[in-house]
Amino acid sequence: MSLGIMATINQTITGETAELIAADFDITVEVETFELSDLLKEEELDVSQLESRAPIVTIMGHVDHGKTSLLDKIRETRIASGEAGGITQHIGAYHLKVGGNSITFLDTPGHEAFTSMRARGANITDIVVLVVAADDKVQPQTIEAIQHARAADVPIIVAVNKIDRPESDPMRIQQELLAHELIPEDLGGSNIFVKVSAKTGEGIDELLEMIHLQAEILELKSTPKGSARGTIIESRVRKGQGPVGTVLVQRGTIKIGDFFVMGSIHGRIRAMFNESGVPLVEAGPSIPVEISGLSNVPEVGELFVVLDDEKNARLIAEEHEYKLRAETIREQQKTSLDNLFNKIEEGEATELRLILKGDVQGSVEALKTSIEQIGDERISPRFLLCAVGNVTETDITLASASDAIIVGFNVQMDAKAREIRANEGVDVRLYDVIYNALDDIKAAMEGLLEPEIREEIVGHLEIREVFSSGKNGMVVGGLVTDGKMYRNCMIRVLRNEKNIFEGSIISLKRFKDDVQEVLQNYECGLVLEFSEIENGDIVEAYEQIEESAKL
Ligand code: GDP
Repeated sequence: MSLGIMATINQTITGETAELIAADFDITVEVETFELSDLLKEEELDVSQLESRAPIVTIMGHVDHGKTSLLDKIRETRIASGEAGGITQHIGAYHLKVGGNSITFLDTPGHEAFTSMRARGANITDIVVLVVAADDKVQPQTIEAIQHARAADVPIIVAVNKIDRPESDPMRIQQELLAHELIPEDLGGSNIFVKVSAKTGEGIDELLEMIHLQAEILELKSTPKGSARGTIIESRVRKGQGPVGTVLVQRGTIKIGDFFVMGSIHGRIRAMFNESGVPLVEAGPSIPVEISGLSNVPEVGELFVVLDDEKNARLIAEEHEYKLRAETIREQQKTSLDNLFNKIEEGEATELRLILKGDVQGSVEALKTSIEQIGDERISPRFLLCAVGNVTETDITLASASDAIIVGFNVQMDAKAREIRANEGVDVRLYDVIYNALDDIKAAMEGLLEPEIREEIVGHLEIREVFSSGKNGMVVGGLVTDGKMYRNCMIRVLRNEKNIFEGSIISLKRFKDDVQEVLQNYECGLVLEFSEIENGDIVEAYEQIEESAKL
């Protein structure tokens, strides 16, 4: 603490600090630099160990164009026939074998989820299947899906769905997509188009084949060897199992008993299941598995890393949590300081937040326009809400949350609002004369401004005699040429009009007597804390006057 570091006994201190402290006890410290987060770094891939892996596919498209139906149909034809029991668990993804190849489908996450996962660094989709209904047209969400896929730099396969419907017109869809630069191969482009029906199953084999083809072009590779890592694609609390998370393995092989960390959560894999509820002992690249043994529910998009050692897993998780907490505290401090003095201190504009309520729209508008004219570059009003009606509970909550003042014109406060207002400490002002409202708001804004400090010259004194240095400073004599001098007054010493000293009058004497003040044309003695003072110097006495700022 004497080094200025307020660390508790459980907190980590830097190597440097440890060295300083240890030196006081004559102990030598050897600092070994080691960052826990280094353990999370990905190993270089060993090219000789690379194997191809299954592509990870996300289905996107406009609502009702058949995303869910298409996934269901693929599952139905591929899994129910082969594996035991079909899909019993919803785990956010599933893996299926078609011929000798496999594909992993992510459950349609919605476009925002797709992108927010990407924002967390989890760019896990290799191929997007864009579903467009042939009996409809390219819709806003179709375009949005294209944009999201492009932003992620992921190839798009277009599945023109519902071709079983008599009114379907796949050619029109193709035509419309040209405008979005999705050009089929037969027109000289590079995008794969497949006509499918999620209802009859027509075209689904071809779609799966095209996914393989695209995957081959992408040369998707990974290795089941080495340290294992993946991404959390879904999480929840399951009855009897506690928090569970679906890990999509990206490299290495995860096994039961492995220690792991993801964000601030750590643990040991207790059990693993695939989408059919079949228990597994291990899972390799592109395989989604639900694991249990987590200390908490992880966030989707979180990186999952297997570590050799339980202690490191725990330490990394704790460090992560500690960092998160420190960040939150910093955020909170930032907002509250912002509101208080930072902005004003830095000369930045500040604002008075207001909620206006009035009896009719006309009066609300009139009040708002008048208030907008108050203020200048230092402070201005900001309206969080301007509405007709009484002051309600919601208004109070909003004002409390945003540190705003409520101004009501020709309205009342609801009983409920009155009740909670006392607890929330919100300033509510009700008026029936518009000028009173304006005066008060002006005063409130002035109150938010820093007071202005003005200097006023009190008088001047010319030094005529420098006596000696007394125990409190230099003893000098002089004549008050204008104004006056008084004890403890702030002064500056001027020589050739240059300011050479700032201080105050320590004591003031006329003959042998201490006095409070000496007026113009009188001589006096005074003590100053300025040893270089000379005959002829001018002592200028002044006051600083604080005035509240005016608008
Ligand atoms: P999502 O919102 O994109 O997931 O669309 P859904 O899969 O829920 O499908 C919307 C509607 O279209 C449902 O009523 C489906 O039965 C229907 N539908 C989906 N695919 C086809 C198809 O290929 N043919 C026909 N006739 N109907 C389909």
